[in-house]
Amino acid sequence: MAGFQVDSDTRGVRDNHIGAMKPISICKLCKNEATLISAHVTPRSFWEIDAAQPPPRIVTNIKGVFPRRIPIGVYDQTIVCEPCERSFSDYDSYAAQLFLNRFNEFEEVRDSNRRLTGYVLRDADYRSLKLFAIAILWRAAVSSHSFFSRVRLGPFEEKAREMLLRGDPGDAATFATLFSVWDEAQAFMMDPFAERWDGVLSYRFYLGRFVTYVKVDSRPLPEQLAKAALAQGCPLHVISRQLAVSKDFRVAQHILTYEINRRRRG
Ligand SMILES: [Zn+2]
Repeated sequence: MAGFQVDSDTRGVRDNHIGAMKPISICKLCKNEATLISAHVTPRSFWEIDAAQPPPRIVTNIKGVFPRRIPIGVYDQTIVCEPCERSFSDYDSYAAQLFLNRFNEFEEVRDSNRRLTGYVLRDADYRSLKLFAIAILWRAAVSSHSFFSRVRLGPFEEKAREMLLRGDPGDAATFATLFSVWDEAQAFMMDPFAERWDGVLSYRFYLGRFVTYVKVDSRPLPEQLAKAALAQGCPLHVISRQLAVSKDFRVAQHILTYEINRRRRG
């Protein structure tokens, strides 16, 4: 348990192990000996939904761990050195800019009953967003924090590390990534967990109002989901949580509506 800390204004909650200086350790990304720094697994900005509101409530369904409020987020000082942490910051800040500051630029997609099915943005940066998702996945996997204890990638851990080192987002099917959003602002955090879509394993990460899903499986996603996955040169789809709660995501319906509207507009 030593080596992580909970940042916050919850003074006095700091783990007793943390007071002493950390010895030199091995960075889990570059594998160099270095002083490891206190790093976020999910970027800090996604936790700061509204400074005036109470902090997000962290909900967990790990047995024996009780829900608690953590004002800023989860830090981990066992993951990376400072240069490696900096290598993530472009991806983290791009995603935060896009989802938190530019979400009004997304087009709403509605079905024939005028029901909101999701949002679309035509010119998102595939590389930054994909590496953002892979970086969250990898940091969660290598974190020693109990909040991420259920993220276990097996051979995909090394694959993610190598892609991050190369700055390589891979193709759409590799660590295929989807996003969804709660239509009303919700400060809801839950520890990430694995789920299966027609048997294909994917991890779910809560990021404030947004949820990202990353496939950790060599088999492809079911076709309907694959259509909404982040892809080079394709619009970015953010599925409404109203749809996402349904087992099949009803993504096909969302995409179809988007395509029909697009063609109508010419
Ligand atoms: Zn490093």
